[in-house]
Amino acid sequence: MGKTTFASEALNCSAPDTGNMEVLNLYGSEPIKQAWLAPLLEGEIRSAFCMTEPDSASSDATNIELRIERDGDDYVLNGRKWFSSGALAERCQVFIVMGKTNPKASAHLQQSMVVVPKDAPGVTIGRIPTVFGYLDRGGHPEVIFSDVRVPVDNLLGEEGGGFAISQARLGPGRIHHCMRALGAAERALEHMVRRSLERTTFGTLVAQKGLIQDWIAEARIDIDMAREYVLRTAYLMDTVGNKAAATEISGIKVAVPNVALKVIDRAIQVYGAAGVTQFTPLAELYAHIRTLRIADGPDEVHKMTIARREIRKYAPDFRMYATPSPGAQS
Ligand SMILES: Cc1cc2nc3c(=O)[nH]c(=O)nc-3n(C[C@H](O)[C@H](O)[C@H](O)COP(=O)(O)OP(=O)(O)OC[C@H]3O[C@@H](n4cnc5c(N)ncnc54)[C@H](O)[C@@H]3O)c2cc1C
Repeated sequence: MGKTTFASEALNCSAPDTGNMEVLNLYGSEPIKQAWLAPLLEGEIRSAFCMTEPDSASSDATNIELRIERDGDDYVLNGRKWFSSGALAERCQVFIVMGKTNPKASAHLQQSMVVVPKDAPGVTIGRIPTVFGYLDRGGHPEVIFSDVRVPVDNLLGEEGGGFAISQARLGPGRIHHCMRALGAAERALEHMVRRSLERTTFGTLVAQKGLIQDWIAEARIDIDMAREYVLRTAYLMDTVGNKAAATEISGIKVAVPNVALKVIDRAIQVYGAAGVTQFTPLAELYAHIRTLRIADGPDEVHKMTIARREIRKYAPDFRMYATPSPGAQS
């Protein structure tokens, strides 16, 4: 599916719907499941996940500022999100929104998640960022929440459980991204080989040059290694669970987009000028896969998670910070 940018949506297996459906299934009440999960599973509607904010460093989810305040039988939301992927799409009708219900609680118990219909009064779309100049399907807009009211029954899980849900949601979402990135890398390798067989420079086909053969061989090796790593992670997620597979989930989230980017970059190079145009899929694939080094957790944050687990094998009391910081998962 990763070979074609729209294929996962055609098969109702695309971000952010897969992650959102899992959250609704695990944490939604029966009425919420009936109202939103059922039509999502049928592919009748789509959804957005609103966690990231323009004004807070959102790679640390404890920084999230959008306010969710209880008022009688309602929650009232005020704040601003962005990179709410897919929110512009006509079929997108519901948002899962993360915000702070109790700013005085300990750092990981301040946040909650609520379900907000896209047409709720007070929800407006703000700026619409492009991605390297591309406007992705459904976009990644800013969404502004001004005194938006939803019934307290729209809470997912427990009040204060938003951080835990965000961690639970992102594991499955990440492996889907990695599987699609492998498809993108395979497509780029195919383009690299086919083009190298079409063009002649300095008396030989590009495919006859040792350097290009080295790139082709490295691409095959890297893709196959990445695929095995993803398969092993999938096996662990199925057999020991997402939490026990956290190191591997972070590992593939760093490794696979970087492998795919290297292959796509070399395929662009083999194409020459045509590689950076709209006449091959390579430039768009590059732009899309490059975002995966940031979306669903920047590389650096995943590496921090892996390093913490490795170091604690040898120093169980090791702390990441000299003094505990409010947002730190010491
Ligand atoms: C195409 C795309 C789609 C997205 N879709 C969604 C979506 O649907 N819903 C949603 O809520 N969000 C979405 N996001 C947002 C994405 O999840 C955030 O951009 C990401 O979590 C980083 O947050 P930030 O942009 O606020 O960066 P910041 O938190 O400001 O971080 C900036 C940089 O600081 C560095 N950094 C941070 N922590 C560390 C560390 N511990 N060590 C070293 N360096 C560090 C990293 O280089 C990081 O990139 C999307 C992003 C993109 C690009």
